[in-house]
Amino acid sequence: MKAIVVKPGVKDSIHMRDMPDPKLKSDQVAVKMIRAGLCGTDAEISHGLYGQAPEGDEYLILGHENFGVVEEVGKQVKGFKAGDLVVSTVRRPCKCYTCKAGMNDMCHDGCYQERGIVGRHGFMAEYYTESPQWLNKIPKDVAEIGVLLEPLSIVEKGIDHAFLLQQRLEWKPKTALVLGGGPIGLLAASVLRARGLETHVVGREPETDNRAQLAKKMGAKYHSVANQTLFDVKKEMPPIDIAIEATGVASVAFDGMQILGSNGVLCLLSITGGSKTADQPIEKINQQLVLGNQVVFGSVNANARHFAMGVKDFSTIERKWPGVLKQLITTRLPWEQYNNWFGQRGSGIKTTLEIS
Ligand code: BGC
Repeated sequence: MKAIVVKPGVKDSIHMRDMPDPKLKSDQVAVKMIRAGLCGTDAEISHGLYGQAPEGDEYLILGHENFGVVEEVGKQVKGFKAGDLVVSTVRRPCKCYTCKAGMNDMCHDGCYQERGIVGRHGFMAEYYTESPQWLNKIPKDVAEIGVLLEPLSIVEKGIDHAFLLQQRLEWKPKTALVLGGGPIGLLAASVLRARGLETHVVGREPETDNRAQLAKKMGAKYHSVANQTLFDVKKEMPPIDIAIEATGVASVAFDGMQILGSNGVLCLLSITGGSKTADQPIEKINQQLVLGNQVVFGSVNANARHFAMGVKDFSTIERKWPGVLKQLITTRLPWEQYNNWFGQRGSGIKTTLEIS
């Protein structure tokens, strides 16, 4: 079968090649890929900065945002049939105690594997096989946005954990802040709006940008920091109860800490590589965190529970703002044209590779 692969650690080694067809075991499901989504992690891997091939393999099949259709079902498999639409989770557990408890998204030992990222082939291929326990069924009426489930699961986990952490007190959140108007930021805004929160999205793009328009369509307020600072924007807002950082810029995480309200919670979702340093008002930040009883936490990956929450929210968001999530997919490339994105990432929101 055809697949898009990289040699992990080797910059610009990305190419399409024939890879062996995956073999279907009796307890597995064979899935034909329909489309894959592209994200910053794929770009990092293609730049040779991240990623690991499966043991004994030279290449890693790239891709973790996925959407496909069941082609064949192993003899022992129950509950799946050909034609079911599915999205696979990304991470596979190791033997540590958190993974054993079913929380492989919180892996304690760091020896997990991730499809398309670390130690397991991904989804930029014609087919993959998988155990049914890692597959999520997608209802036909939200098939067009199914490829957004993996990034949505990241957001669901962050927001879920923010609410779990806030069980530490009597908490009645009213105002949410989302830093970043990319796919993760806009998905976070849609979930926060679906929870009924007054939601403010802050992005670099001007108010005329498509991202701003989509935020408004969900009933969120968009603030551009093209000509003002985040601290200026903050002056127009009520106290922030919950904030999600999704800009991909590390310094913004520290700015976010400075504008959080009392008892507020800030969830950091940006995976920033690099080795930048910066001057930050550490005494102010520390004092505010302490005096404000605030929580700042990082969140990565997601487990089955968050994928299930995402499937539910797809329907809720579609009902409230029909068609808005589909508009996050701004570029659909035939998958042979993958280099149009990896070569030079354009200004769109989410790009997908159309596989079949
Ligand atoms: C993926 C996650 C993954 C993380 C770290 C993200 O881009 O969406 O599933 O855990 O990268 O590898």
